Amino acid sequence: MSTVVIVVGLVCGGMAAYVAAMARVMNKRLTCPACGERTLRLRSLVRGHHWPPQGRPIDESLHRCDACGAEFGRENDGPLVPKQAWDEGARGEFPKAIALPPKER
Ligand SMILES: [Zn+2]
Repeated sequence: MSTVVIVVGLVCGGMAAYVAAMARVMNKRLTCPACGERTLRLRSLVRGHHWPPQGRPIDESLHRCDACGAEFGRENDGPLVPKQAWDEGARGEFPKAIALPPKER
């Protein structure tokens, strides 16, 4: 009986840890390049979307700002690319054509 309780406890604990880890990733906020608020949230993540001839597969993620509504895409942990340019195929370092928050203007 006690063995069953331990096994159930381990399974539930493992699931809870997994859910907590996922929640942490999904709730991680980045600083929004458009408005400077730390309200940029991960919307979706595509694992291994591209397989380059060399190196590891590239994960693509989409982010949206809760404060100003700006959307960005990025590869792995690379720079954030504004959604419009992202949709047009822009990847990697994007020229600094992003509007700065008023306080830095
Ligand atoms: Zn913003």
